Amino acid sequence: MTPSLADARGLQALLLDRNGAVGTQPTEEEWENLAALAGWPVGQHHAFQQAFWSRREAYDAGAITAHARVLARTAARRPLRTAPHGSELLTALRRTDTAMWTNTDPNVLAVLHAAHATGLPIILVSNAPHPVADALEDTAWCRTLVTRTVFSARLGASKPHRRMYEAGLAAAGWPRPDKTIFIDDRADSCLAASGLGMRTLHYTGDPSALARHLPQATPTTIP
Ligand SMILES: [Mg+2]
Repeated sequence: MTPSLADARGLQALLLDRNGAVGTQPTEEEWENLAALAGWPVGQHHAFQQAFWSRREAYDAGAITAHARVLARTAARRPLRTAPHGSELLTALRRTDTAMWTNTDPNVLAVLHAAHATGLPIILVSNAPHPVADALEDTAWCRTLVTRTVFSARLGASKPHRRMYEAGLAAAGWPRPDKTIFIDDRADSCLAASGLGMRTLHYTGDPSALARHLPQATPTTIP
């Protein structure tokens, strides 16, 4: 059997972060829109972000109502039922929040397409709440490029918890960790992966760095 280019590079799998890697960070405008929807005064979206992140880990780890209640508290001056699942506003907050976390970098996607074409399995390993996980799996890029997904909300643990990386390796069919590359924009997450013996790339926003670390079926031109 002719070895694939992925074999030639020695890689058996790619475990890939979403936000800050294949996914772009939300824009200021998106933060402002979410803060306004939650009832925060104009110009205070940075304070809103603090409230947002203070409970986000629980939301990412599957505690859906925890984050919804934080958002609901921020909207206390607006009509809102206390039941988090019954409110139209909460539904709108979740929809807007989900949309913020599903944007992608086309240059990163180009590199991933070229890697995918070599036969390299790509496993998305992402801290994401249920609504974002569901939305991501509905995207064309995820259906095309991603072999399996591992989402924190479904696992009940978030990176850098060891279980996320083990679930990623399991989803890839237990490749050799030293022939698996883990890519994330968070250094602590890369450190956790390297603790399990994986190669790592701390991604800092340069798609050409991805192209240098991944097999590419065709040269990828990055503007
Ligand atoms: Mg990230």
